[in-house]
Amino acid sequence: MRDSYGRKINYLRISVTDLCNLRCRYCMPKEGISQVHHDDILTIEEIGKIARIFTSLGVDKVRLTGGEPLVRKGIVDLVKRIGQLEDIKDFAMTTNGILLRKYARDLKKAGLNRVNISLDTLNENKYAEITRGGRLSNVLRGIEVAKEEGLTPIKINTVLVGGFNDDEIEDFIRWTEEEQIDVRFIELMPMGEAVGFNSKYFISNQLVLDKVPTLIKVERVDKSSPAIYYRVPNGKGRVGLINPISCKFCEDCNRVRITAQGKLKLCLHSNEEIDLKEALMNGGDIENVILNAIKEKPESHHLEDGKYIWKDMYRIGG
Ligand code: SAM
Ligand code: SF4
Repeated sequence: MRDSYGRKINYLRISVTDLCNLRCRYCMPKEGISQVHHDDILTIEEIGKIARIFTSLGVDKVRLTGGEPLVRKGIVDLVKRIGQLEDIKDFAMTTNGILLRKYARDLKKAGLNRVNISLDTLNENKYAEITRGGRLSNVLRGIEVAKEEGLTPIKINTVLVGGFNDDEIEDFIRWTEEEQIDVRFIELMPMGEAVGFNSKYFISNQLVLDKVPTLIKVERVDKSSPAIYYRVPNGKGRVGLINPISCKFCEDCNRVRITAQGKLKLCLHSNEEIDLKEALMNGGDIENVILNAIKEKPESHHLEDGKYIWKDMYRIGG
């Protein structure tokens, strides 16, 4: 599939739920979310069907996300359905890791290739603070089990929050020196709940390079990856910088998203949505709906002009 700017679209990110077992301060309101009616959420069968249609149209990379994908009932069944699709070359999940210890083995058996784990601090108290109550030890154990089960290469996603974790940049980087793990620093994006939070706590990823000037840039193999990778000399893993604000990567964008309610989002930072669930229920020609929608994918986001979206990340699938 190509959009009207000639970009090849081969990557589908599927949010399997809006729900989450954490309440990260930049992502979710502290009171949690307003419940969406069960019937408005894509069923496991519908998600499987949508994934199959996308792969028949050229998608070969799928990521499950949320909300927290591991709180979705039937998640292992869904992984199995998608894992069986022949054309998929890369099948991954983004998770907060809290339940990974319980699920890693079944996920691997069901066909998942690898996991990205979100972790903003290596300090137990700070972890409880940013997630409003999460336990760091659960995540660290989850990472170990994921490694043992071969859900690799493991990538850690760390959102930089000014005055909160900028003093831990070197600790995260040291991790990549000692282990074959990638740590990716992500700039806080202004959206939903985070618009206010962001203006107070945003820091540019440039700080990482300022703090650790010995980082060596790694040749970019996958142009569509939003991360620019570095390595410490002789480091086993890599350090990634994802800079949606200070250095946007729209021209190489290869992805679209499906929300838990079955809305197709052509750009993370656009409010435009195409209702695939309705099209599915009405027996519509989903292939055509998707192909026509892809042509409408925007050329780029406009965060730099203050054009923010109103949805939080957990409702889109980060
Ligand atoms: N619950 C899972 C997790 O935390 O990995 C998957 C969903 S979460 C929305 C996906 C990623 O989005 C996480 O790494 C999270 O830190 C990131 N995220 C959430 N809100 C963000 C924001 N406003 N700016 C940048 N990253 C954000
Ligand atoms: Fe939940 Fe992930 Fe959002 Fe944290 S970032 S509240 S873990 S969805």
